[in-house]
Amino acid sequence: MLRRMSDCLFCKIAAKQLPAKLVHEDPDTVAFEDINPQAPTHVVVVPRKHVATLNDLAPEDEAVVGKLHRVAAKIAKERGLAERGWRAVMNCNRDAGQTVFHLHLHLLGGRAFGWPPG
Ligand code: 5GP
Ligand code: ZN
Repeated sequence: MLRRMSDCLFCKIAAKQLPAKLVHEDPDTVAFEDINPQAPTHVVVVPRKHVATLNDLAPEDEAVVGKLHRVAAKIAKERGLAERGWRAVMNCNRDAGQTVFHLHLHLLGGRAFGWPPG
């Protein structure tokens, strides 16, 4: 698993060392369009701090994890998704399909989703 921030894709996007379609930024978080969208809206919200997975959260990370959700809700509202609904997903490690080992919240919306997920 990737541990070095210098090699981390989402650290580089957050630092603007790699391009992405940013839709939100603040001192703690950055949100950008997913490069391979799985729904009409597919935005990735990340903490600026490098945390590899949900397994690696420290007590001091609790606030920023809450903020990821508030940022997603703000973007969903801006896009008119609040009432019809949207999905927030965080994948942790292999069985969940995590491919980028920098904590991120997927905001998915604009279509209906099945449950349980496949
Ligand atoms: P995961 O599978 O780890 O939960 O989600 C990683 C997400 O990051 C995937 O939805 C993938 O499409 C997206 N992604 C991977 N590389 C890039 C990139 O270089 N730019 C952007 N904008 N999204 C990426
Ligand atoms: Zn990182």
